[in-house]
Amino acid sequence: MVMYEQPVMAALCGLGLLGSLTVARLFSQTLSLHQRRFAQLHQALQAEQKTRQSLEAAFEVIPDAAALYDADDRLVLCSERYRKMNPVTAPLMQPGTSFEQIVRAGAASGEVVAALGREEDWITQRLEEHRHPRQDSLQSLSDNRWVRISERRTPDGGLIGLRTDVTEFVRQQQALEAAQQDAQQARRLLVRALDALPTALEIFDDNDCLVVYNRALQRMFPHIDYPVSLGRKFADMAEESLRSGIVIDARGQEERWLSQRLQERAEKGNRTFLQQLEGPLWVQVYERRTPENYIVAIRLDVTDMVQQRQALQTAQHEAQQARQLLQDAIEALPEGLAVFDADDRLLLCNTQYRVMYPKLASMLQPGRSFDELLAFEAAHGHYAQALGQEDDWETVRRRCHRHPGPPMVVHMHDERWLRVHERRTAENMIVGVHVDVTELIQKEQQLATANELLATLSATDGLTGLHNRRSFDEAIAREWQRCARHGLPLALLLVDIDHFKLYNDHYGHLAGDDCLRRVARLLAADVRRAGDLVARYGGEEFVLLLPGTDDLGARETAQRCLERLRTENIPHAASPTSQRLSMSIGIAAWIPQAQNQPHSLINAADNALYHAKQTGRAQYVMASSQPELL
Ligand code: GH3
Ligand code: MG
Ligand code: MG
Repeated sequence: MVMYEQPVMAALCGLGLLGSLTVARLFSQTLSLHQRRFAQLHQALQAEQKTRQSLEAAFEVIPDAAALYDADDRLVLCSERYRKMNPVTAPLMQPGTSFEQIVRAGAASGEVVAALGREEDWITQRLEEHRHPRQDSLQSLSDNRWVRISERRTPDGGLIGLRTDVTEFVRQQQALEAAQQDAQQARRLLVRALDALPTALEIFDDNDCLVVYNRALQRMFPHIDYPVSLGRKFADMAEESLRSGIVIDARGQEERWLSQRLQERAEKGNRTFLQQLEGPLWVQVYERRTPENYIVAIRLDVTDMVQQRQALQTAQHEAQQARQLLQDAIEALPEGLAVFDADDRLLLCNTQYRVMYPKLASMLQPGRSFDELLAFEAAHGHYAQALGQEDDWETVRRRCHRHPGPPMVVHMHDERWLRVHERRTAENMIVGVHVDVTELIQKEQQLATANELLATLSATDGLTGLHNRRSFDEAIAREWQRCARHGLPLALLLVDIDHFKLYNDHYGHLAGDDCLRRVARLLAADVRRAGDLVARYGGEEFVLLLPGTDDLGARETAQRCLERLRTENIPHAASPTSQRLSMSIGIAAWIPQAQNQPHSLINAADNALYHAKQTGRAQYVMASSQPELL
């Protein structure tokens, strides 16, 4: 009202000069005109306000944030939701504010992520989109919200802008995309993993059509073009394989093989079987049915394993043959043979061994320890050598067994002798060869007895039974060294019967022999000390070797011998020097020197004997002294 009254009053003042009627009329007309106009304006204004209120109410009802810009791009009105959605620019959102002002304020506030760092470019782009809206756009805000902007031109050139908070939707979308990417990635990974598998894999669906395969399968069945075989029936592919001849098991009986294979496949349940393919290639097939009635087949190349198994079987067969051969050879041995393992337990023994140890035969089972067998035998008195000292003997025998050395000879209770030759093998086993050497031992014993006799005979004078010249030579050489070593005197008495030729001539040769035996007995009776030796030196000559006896002792012995012969009183009617048999003795006695020879002593005694003969016989003569050292 006030707005319209003031210009009316001014007009009235300007018209004061006019006549009152005219003025009154004009005034009346003008007034009614203005009153009409005012009424019209008032009505229009009321209508506009009503429209605006309706519009505002409508904007508030819209679930999206809404704003209306006029043709000059100035804000006409916006909903409360619109302001709340843009809290930074909300104070600017008054009717009349230009869109550009609001956009710039938004960019400057940093709330629009896309504008950061490129504010002017973004403002230009945003204004362009705003002026020529085409399609909805998404705006990312700095508080992690997403807003969809929908702008449409109104017929009067204005613009309605709707902003919808689609944060939740965008996040779901992003999550969905991420999930899809993950799924794709997983699928790619799965395909790569399947291809990387050394094991061939194929999956058939519930119609027995191929749905999955991997590279290893393609390598195993190169005749099938797998990339174009997805969806093919198993039967179709199997027929192709049979035509190619790759399935060795099916050769020559393809139809039967296929019908049996298809029949098996139609049955529910799982199958595992070995298949031989061309190559040669051995494949272990595992067919498993899934709850969806799919068939997952895994084909494992087990060629190496099968070939190894075949090689193993061949080796086992050969080993069996070799074992049999060895067994036969062992059985053929004339010796007893027993083998003990590294733990000293019986591994095997041959029949000959059982024969050799008959009392032990029942115990001879593989696995028996050597100690058990040994204790059993010792306790049952099987070893003659062990009797009365079983424990000690067992200890020695066990040591010899565990640390084999030279062969040993075992004396059994039944007078058999066994030679046991044990050896440790590279595998730490002990192989024992047992030989019955009873005959050999008996012959050895006989031989030893014979040798002993022979030695005695070869050292004995056949006529007198005294040591012979050879025995004397050995004895003097031995005693010479021994006395020299110990600084002992060695005495030698060389005895010669006087006029023995005449005795023979007078009494006969046999009487002469008899006489020689009597003299021998007589001399031997006087020489009793250990180490003393009486020998027939030759013809009617004797020798007494007395180690440890000095010249005095030698004289005494010589004197005793002369006395004894005299006492013996053997007649010698032909002797020119006596009526009885007499003898002469040459003595030499001193401490031998190692560097001198025994014959120096013999020569000295011989010289002394010569003197005894020359000076009357029936006496002894002592060699003067030890000759000069050489
Ligand atoms: P002398 O006193 O000088 O020693 O004189 P002799 O006769 O004893 O010595 P001679 O060397 O001249 O003679 C030794 C004799 O001994 C000669 C030989 O017939 C005899 N004679 C040697 N060996 C045997 C034998 O084994 N049996 C017998 N019956 N006589 C033997
Ligand atoms: Mg003589
Ligand atoms: Mg003589």
